[in-house]
Amino acid sequence: MPELTPSPLATGDELPVDAARAAIADALVPITETETVSLGAALGRALAADVVSPIDVPAHDNSAMDGYALYGADLAAEGPTVLTALPGTVFAGAPHEGTVARGQCLKIMTGAVMPPGLDTVVPRELVTLDGNRVSIRAGALKPGENRRKRGEDLSAGKPALQAGRRLRPADLGLLASLGFDRVTVYRRLRVALFSTGDEVFAPGQPLPPGGIYDSNRFTLTAALQRLGVEVLDLGLVKDDPAALTAVLRRAVREADAVVTSGGVSMGDADYTRDVMAEMGDVAFWKVAMRPGRPFAFGPLQDGTARAMLFALPGNPVAALVTFYAFAREALLVLGGARPEPMPVLQARSVAPIRKRPGRTEYQRGIVERAPEGGWQVRITGSQGAGILRSLSEANALVVLGHGQGSVAAGEPVDVWLFDGLD
Ligand code: AMP
Ligand code: MG
Repeated sequence: MPELTPSPLATGDELPVDAARAAIADALVPITETETVSLGAALGRALAADVVSPIDVPAHDNSAMDGYALYGADLAAEGPTVLTALPGTVFAGAPHEGTVARGQCLKIMTGAVMPPGLDTVVPRELVTLDGNRVSIRAGALKPGENRRKRGEDLSAGKPALQAGRRLRPADLGLLASLGFDRVTVYRRLRVALFSTGDEVFAPGQPLPPGGIYDSNRFTLTAALQRLGVEVLDLGLVKDDPAALTAVLRRAVREADAVVTSGGVSMGDADYTRDVMAEMGDVAFWKVAMRPGRPFAFGPLQDGTARAMLFALPGNPVAALVTFYAFAREALLVLGGARPEPMPVLQARSVAPIRKRPGRTEYQRGIVERAPEGGWQVRITGSQGAGILRSLSEANALVVLGHGQGSVAAGEPVDVWLFDGLD
């Protein structure tokens, strides 16, 4: 773990969000094991090696239009061009056999291989037909038009996709277009997850006096599923050192990373901090952010087994915000993907937002189309760290940076959209 010197911007002993993120990034050691999977099972997986195109795509010059293939040099410099159409049509998948002389042309369909020598296609709608005479008015097209060139998509030996890319739908299509039916990716990252707290109970049963239902495990399981990791659900653990030690040992042995919620603040009955500190090189941070101040991170060890711990605060909103601020990108990197920051959209704030410099704030907001165009955002509901309803009502988080002050109505702010997120 790198030593952390609080930045001059930090208030008291609080660590700015960026410093916490940088310390996390420095400590990550990605997994190296790979597996080969079929394209149908590869969506969202991290590519383990660069993919170089083994072929030219397309493999031949071909027509981009339904029309007539011709010699560009036959196009008259002035006045209309009149050509003689040979009988027959060149269809995609059935290359023309035989030759075409100057002054002749050949009916061709989109995707069909260009007959040798022909370099131009005039679209059907630009010609006038009279028997086998094809007339093209002056200036209708230039030589070379409407021909897709061999290798214009990708030529053999050129890099197609880089290692670390998380495969998206178009990437899978690209791999298929190169002839690959399988792809080598990093194995899925295994992430152990559990909730802590004597007061926390699983849903689906009556709540004892003073109890609350465990919501974090469900929020976080879903957020982890969107990342494509394998989730090892270790349930709920009481604030009891022996129970915590046992579950952390299991997590470290069976997973690459451990995500927990609760027990990292200074609460009297929380033994989580002590147990975590005993098992590894864990840093407990007070991050200059709201919500989500307490957060712990670092490698845990049990014998030779190691796993990276992300200990999130127990407050339900803080748990999800710290997950997105610190864990999401780190887990992607641990799984072999290149870092991918949260996608940020700019939206105009409908109303003023109070904010003091010196900490990062994440406010729940609703982003919608602005009547004047672009996007606008309004803050929604109570911003209390425990209030999940306003998080569920929101479709975005407004991110107000460390140095930023209050926002005036109409000013643009950064937002993280929940949809389209993973
Ligand atoms: P802690 O971080 O353990 O001090 O918890 C902070 C607050 O979050 C307390 O009010 C807890 O009751 C609540 N909390 C902790 N864990 C959960 C959980 N898994 N689901 C819902 N609320 C929780
Ligand atoms: Mg607790």
